Amino acid sequence: MDDIIHLLPDRVANQIAAGEVVQRPASAVKELLENAIDAGASHIQLVVKDAGRTLIQVIDDGKGMSFNDARLCFERHATSKISSAEDLFSIRTKGFRGEALASVAAIAHVELKTKRAEDETGTLVQIEGSEIKEHTLTTTADGTSISVKNLFFNVPARRNFLKSDATEFGCIEEEFKRVALIHPEVAFTLYHNGNMVYQLKSNNPKLRIVELFGKHFNDKLYPLQQESNYIKISGFIGKPECSKKKSPEQYLFVNHRFVKHRGLNFAVESAYSQVLPEGHHPVYFISIEVDPATIDVNISPTKIDVKLQDERMAFGFLNASVRKAIGEFSLIPQLDFDYNTELDLNSVPEKAELKVPTIEIDKTYNPFRRTQSSNGGGGRVLMGNRPQTAAPDWDNFLRDIHETQVQTVPSEPEQTSIDFQNEDEILVKEGSYLILYQKYMLVKIQEKPHLIHIARAYERIIYQSYMEALREKPVVVQQSLFPETITLTPARAELLQEIREDMHKLGYDIEPISGGNFAVNGTPNEEDMGDVQTLVECLLDDYQSQMLNHRMEREKSIAMSMARQKRSRKKVPSTPEEAEFFLRQLFACLMPTISPSGKKIYEVLEEDALTKILS
Ligand code: ADP
Ligand code: MG
Repeated sequence: MDDIIHLLPDRVANQIAAGEVVQRPASAVKELLENAIDAGASHIQLVVKDAGRTLIQVIDDGKGMSFNDARLCFERHATSKISSAEDLFSIRTKGFRGEALASVAAIAHVELKTKRAEDETGTLVQIEGSEIKEHTLTTTADGTSISVKNLFFNVPARRNFLKSDATEFGCIEEEFKRVALIHPEVAFTLYHNGNMVYQLKSNNPKLRIVELFGKHFNDKLYPLQQESNYIKISGFIGKPECSKKKSPEQYLFVNHRFVKHRGLNFAVESAYSQVLPEGHHPVYFISIEVDPATIDVNISPTKIDVKLQDERMAFGFLNASVRKAIGEFSLIPQLDFDYNTELDLNSVPEKAELKVPTIEIDKTYNPFRRTQSSNGGGGRVLMGNRPQTAAPDWDNFLRDIHETQVQTVPSEPEQTSIDFQNEDEILVKEGSYLILYQKYMLVKIQEKPHLIHIARAYERIIYQSYMEALREKPVVVQQSLFPETITLTPARAELLQEIREDMHKLGYDIEPISGGNFAVNGTPNEEDMGDVQTLVECLLDDYQSQMLNHRMEREKSIAMSMARQKRSRKKVPSTPEEAEFFLRQLFACLMPTISPSGKKIYEVLEEDALTKILS
């Protein structure tokens, strides 16, 4: 029998590759925008018709291509970005596989006009279904303009799978945002069916977010900035109150590339677990930069996945940084500044006494050392040739950040919200505070009137003290002479066994007697105890629902439920001493601005706000 294996013609191979690279118009948009960025453009125009079905055009003012390159760029594996396998480990460009243009040209009618600044004339190339129709000199501006028409003209199956124009354009817009967000220095415009959808001028990162997502974001973001000698984290995270149940804006970039990474996403989400209500997800725009030698982006054709060499380290660092930002910035309510396009919002206003988050890092530490030796340096392509230095224990470092940052218990007074350098600032005298409706306290702190929701503040204070009790100093149990009995359903009884030890740390000594009966042998020494049966039942219900949703650590769930139940039993401060004690307790908390269930605890009544009320 004859040999039956043969090589596929290029156009067929290209079409197959296109199946992976170009799934919908938005994928072509992504590739073209990325090429423009790689070409060093400072202005990029995206013109789309019929959600990309009939036209996708990208015009850039980048470096352009020579006459020959303009033809070659449509060949498969034709790239100017790498030339050897080693180059894969120092990639700083978006592209490197050299297959995007070949793929797009295999399934559309493409027209390319390009010119380098140093050339007299430009080049025109027309290609349809991988077939070159035209390759001549032409007059055109410096840079590149590439039009992709009739996408999928020869792949009806793909064409038929396209969704509505609204959906497809939504995907295009999303790709556009991803590129625009991480390149705020580049100006972009997006037109759809002749209408201008975005016009983004070269900007700073924060204003780029505001331009893309709306002015309301201007005062909803905390800056994030943390750097060690081999990982840099920057960007913005949304304040807890702008979290969402559905489709929150979550943008994560690794080395300027938008990526989806479950572990890193979880690192951010879990940093918020204490300040977000159940089912809410945080908003974030985070850029992570690491040595390209320590990541692999070549694990999927669209490069949306990334593999990090040391995921545990990245996870720990990201999680700690986000926690730190939430902790520090939520404490400084005055930090919001007005929307002002002239203002560089990256810089911190002088009057806000911001402490730059620091995580102590041994600069001599080379994190790759351990992995390198365990891999013997051979075979593992991800390894670069990095200088070797003495390596302190990475696990200790991580544990340290974990212990200092991840715990909810503040140990340092510097973590309090308002920087009370002067104890007098929290001195409350007769007449210097007001209780309104038995619900709010109006008090001047640092010259500004603060309106405080008392019950929410107590919820935070109790939560904080319970977390402390659960993790460090258990509450003293006061033994009862005549133990009360509580009765629980079998399901609740079983659940109680799980958290009996924790309850003990909170001062409740509860012992099983028989069936669903439990003896309450001891309780904390509290003035207004409330009914233990109800307390335990509510706690168990909360605990169960938290656990079912895998939302929270056991301790947090318990502390949160207890704090919610106990807050209303706290007395509204009625003397200056009580008011002062209350305020000191509140501002000693790590997060005095938001209650554990995610509600605002106080508002600073700025003059503007008061003027508005009386306008
Ligand atoms: P890759 O980006 O992976 O290299 P592409 O198929 O996207 O592969 O592009 C092939 C090559 O064509 C690029 O390496 C680059 O040299 C050139 N090129 C593509 N688009 C542009 C552009 N807008 N400006 C200048 N050169 C470009
Ligand atoms: Mg490319």
